Amino acid sequence: MKILITGGAGFIGSAVVRRAIADGHEVVNLDALTYSANLENVESVANDPRYAFEQADICDQARVREIFARHRPDAVMHLAAESHNDRAIEGPLDFVRTNVVGTAVLLEAAREHWNGLSEPAKSQFRFHHVSTDEVFGALGEEGAFSETTPYDPNSPYSASKAGSDHLVRVWGRTYGLPVVITNCANNYGPYQFPEKLVPTVITRALEGKTIPVYGDGRQVRDWLHVDDHAEALLLVLQKGRLDETYCIGGTPNRRNLEIIQILCAALDKYAPANTTHAEKIAFVADRPGHDFRYAIDASKLKAELGWEAKTSLEDGLEQTVRWYVENRDWIEGIRQRGFHSERLGLVKAS
Ligand code: NAD
Repeated sequence: MKILITGGAGFIGSAVVRRAIADGHEVVNLDALTYSANLENVESVANDPRYAFEQADICDQARVREIFARHRPDAVMHLAAESHNDRAIEGPLDFVRTNVVGTAVLLEAAREHWNGLSEPAKSQFRFHHVSTDEVFGALGEEGAFSETTPYDPNSPYSASKAGSDHLVRVWGRTYGLPVVITNCANNYGPYQFPEKLVPTVITRALEGKTIPVYGDGRQVRDWLHVDDHAEALLLVLQKGRLDETYCIGGTPNRRNLEIIQILCAALDKYAPANTTHAEKIAFVADRPGHDFRYAIDASKLKAELGWEAKTSLEDGLEQTVRWYVENRDWIEGIRQRGFHSERLGLVKAS
């Protein structure tokens, strides 16, 4: 297939790009190259004749239409988004613009392209929206999100992703565009921009800085290795049923503090310092509206497509620490572009 992947220079998008090329697909990577993008993430495939890169903003209708007309993709995997909760609290309109308006622009361009396809190509076409479990809101100590959980977002980020999910579903119902949606748990792994929990802990520890824990660290998340997510996404694209949603995750749930402690132990092994890394843990003000618990019931994906996560959390976190320790140039490049892991997203009284 020729797959148009949006956001392919970001964390998850680049894992999907690398895997799609390895699986034998052609890839058009459409990315605006915002602060979280990094073309080094796709360097390993950049010279492959089946890979093309287009720097474009998904909100730019003329540019997006032109890219569809020139590349004529068989499928779209839509990952481009503003993706960080703390930034969403500081600048929610950027999230509405990219995640809601940008998704609508992309859907319209996909629809125009799809309308012009032959009947066999039309029935094969897919528009796959990659979304988050955060659209479902927060859980208490019990239960798990599934495909039938009502939407109940709590943050500007999750509300914008919920909005984009609704648009995608409606382009299927109203116009017949062949769509599928996935809602995934928290991802971790190599090439993640150092503002989310796992790479923040690792990169700050490597710099000898304190390791921040938001609130009491008792929040619970379902953690999935990015390569397991990429595998699930390509499977859903090819074998998932149209107009369906699939929840991806289902790995053991852990409190944020436990994740940080596992990372500190791996850091003691791969990047020993004068003191144990756990001694650098500092409790800081919680994120406003911080959801308490997310958990995924991924039994539909297992029953229909036979997918299950392969990477155990302990192994995956240890591999991730090793990757950051061995790829300090990648972190340094980001620092040189002006990122210094300062705290964002505390609502200030006006
Ligand atoms: P990321 O921030 O690492 O990457 C986002 C990419 O989108 C970047 O390369 C950026 O340049 C690009 N982009 C942003 N605005 C754009 C625009 N207007 N036009 C074109 N490109 C633009 O994010 P990520 O963590 O890789 O997340 C990718 C997708 O997966 C997002 O849609 C996110 O909501 C979803 N998701 C993420 C997680 C997670 O744990 N990170 C979990 C579930 C779902």
